[in-house]
Amino acid sequence: MFRESSRYKKINLNDSFKFKCIRCDLCCGTGPNVTLTVFDIVRIAEYLNVHWRTFLYEYTKVLVGDMMVFVALRDKGKGECVFMEYENGLTKCRIYPARPMRCRLYPLYLVSPSANYLHLDTECPGVGKGREVKVPKKLVERYSFEVKYHYKEIMRLVLDEGMRPLEALEAVLERLWEEAEKGAEWAKTEFLEKLGST
Ligand code: SF4
Ligand code: SF4
Repeated sequence: MFRESSRYKKINLNDSFKFKCIRCDLCCGTGPNVTLTVFDIVRIAEYLNVHWRTFLYEYTKVLVGDMMVFVALRDKGKGECVFMEYENGLTKCRIYPARPMRCRLYPLYLVSPSANYLHLDTECPGVGKGREVKVPKKLVERYSFEVKYHYKEIMRLVLDEGMRPLEALEAVLERLWEEAEKGAEWAKTEFLEKLGST
């Protein structure tokens, strides 16, 4: 079980904290790599204008363990995210408007699918700097929904329909891809913007 430590502090949905991102390379440049839900995968693929299969093949690593499948962004070799770039000595995200929910939330961490298990990473150099910012409640709640949907749907297909984990992942992605192609709101970067970020 995830316990509060001197590094990760429990924080509530209605709290606020001092934060200003200084664009260092700690979160994007030192791994461990960001895990993705099926929603992240479809949104980023749409943003890059590639099919979700191409996105999975070129930018992620997929791990199957027991009955579940995990997808994470690849790194460039030393922990730097595959989408991390530099601009005038500062880090920059190549897919910033469509970046994964985990990145939108950082330095906040949702340590369980429940929106109530939120922690603040106090080792982020931006924490304690700048102005007081509120926890982006809508974003936390939507991410909580997406994480639950991801694991529940994959598990349902594995347990109830006898699919292999990878097949189940592909089936869920195919369904969400069709929704996105028909203009689903959740697949648009404007939708993410309305949810806010840290
Ligand atoms: S969120 Fe924190 S660790 Fe990440 S770039 Fe900004 S200041 Fe650095
Ligand atoms: S996707 Fe973007 S914000 Fe997230 S770790 Fe990679 S470079 Fe950083």
